[in-house]
Amino acid sequence: MSSIKKVLIANRGEIALRILRACKELGIQTVAVYSTADKDLKHVRLADEAVCIGPHPSIKSYLNIPAIISAAELTHSDAIHPGYGFLSENADFADQVEQSGFIFIGPRAENIRVMGDKVAAIEAMKRSGVPCVPGSDGALDDNEKRSIKIAKEIGLPIIIKASGGGGGRGMRVVDEEKDLTDSIQLTKSEALSFFGNGEVYMEKFLTTPRHVEIQVLADQHGNAIHLGERDCSMQRRHQKVVEEAPAPGISAELRNEIGNICAEACKKINYRGAGTFEFLFDNDEFYFIEMNTRVQVEHPVTEMITGIDIVREQILIAGGDKLSFKQSDVNIQGHAIECRINAEDPESFMPSPGKITQYHAAGGLGVRIDSHIYNGYNVPPHYDSMIGKVITYGDNRNNAIIKMQNALDEMVIDGIKTNIPLQRKIMIDKVFQKGGMNIHYLEKMLGDEE
Ligand code: ADP
Repeated sequence: MSSIKKVLIANRGEIALRILRACKELGIQTVAVYSTADKDLKHVRLADEAVCIGPHPSIKSYLNIPAIISAAELTHSDAIHPGYGFLSENADFADQVEQSGFIFIGPRAENIRVMGDKVAAIEAMKRSGVPCVPGSDGALDDNEKRSIKIAKEIGLPIIIKASGGGGGRGMRVVDEEKDLTDSIQLTKSEALSFFGNGEVYMEKFLTTPRHVEIQVLADQHGNAIHLGERDCSMQRRHQKVVEEAPAPGISAELRNEIGNICAEACKKINYRGAGTFEFLFDNDEFYFIEMNTRVQVEHPVTEMITGIDIVREQILIAGGDKLSFKQSDVNIQGHAIECRINAEDPESFMPSPGKITQYHAAGGLGVRIDSHIYNGYNVPPHYDSMIGKVITYGDNRNNAIIKMQNALDEMVIDGIKTNIPLQRKIMIDKVFQKGGMNIHYLEKMLGDEE
């Protein structure tokens, strides 16, 4: 097998544990790195070695590149897995990892860099034949008349987006022509102060799309495949709350058509590792919005319906292995749903860190819990509030929903507040049960209740 004998896990929480499990199955040694607030994390206890890399502010630990690379040197690690968030989409980190002689378990730095710049990403995708939202074909210049002409050609409403934007920030919708010039200026100056890059572009604003994304895997030998799609339309403030695979109403034909386009694009841009093409889906058409160059929170739903371990594949690909299966070996079967479990008030959404006094996980056929929490674990206030994911798998969507209802009823997490009551409400919601909601539905459902 590959040259990877020891992996440093540059992350925390459930994804760090997920990576540790994949390494153990492959017989690979693990190194946990942690902040002073995280010494009691489950994967820190289970790892072969553990190195404290700094105090709790992320900038001093999980985002501290020299500290992480030093830990890799100290422990003679071969490779670094960045997980999601933190440094996972930082091209300079990927560069420095490789320059220091370690394998970066992820794509080439140049791919990360292009996908982090939305204008460059869209250009690369268009060249590779991926369908994009009708838009300005690159960044807007200072010529007001030209911008108005572009907007009229696209047709209002339009959305102005920052090229360096992320996390749902740096976007502005314009409904009327008279507001266009001011909105462009405002978005530009916000983009400059938020992201240090004032470049903005324009897209048609799709009013009621769904969020449908394609999972891909590519090796270093020119092979690329897709693992079908996920529907992540249940969002609040651009944060995904529930994800599922496959997406309701997508035919095998449509899946293969868009999936093959994504796999081909991977070959054209010389992509390696796992990746996700995010699309808005409207009237049976896919419109590319961005590519995530890392493993995603919602990867388990794809694993459940394909039987393919995405994190294991990431590690094998980074070690130089060829993909162990072809597109024709990928079989999509059944239906999987994931509910993100957050330490937060289910009504106000305020974070609710603290000590878990009692924990009992759900179980049974088709129930998977990806979580690092345990009895007596103290959820620190410094990081993302997600403390785990409940994933259910059934032979069809209805069965997966019923299993999720049962699983949520079985879950006991005492001592802190969680969003489990909200997830229960979603699972019994008639519109959700029908499937195919658009990206505004969850906020509407919550608003209607208030
Ligand atoms: P970010 O990197 O900040 O997440 P995205 O480009 O992925 O930015 O867009 C975030 C969200 O903004 C999308 O999931 C969607 O809800 C909305 N959005 C983005 N572009 C459009 C568009 N052209 N029309 C409608 N909604 C959009």
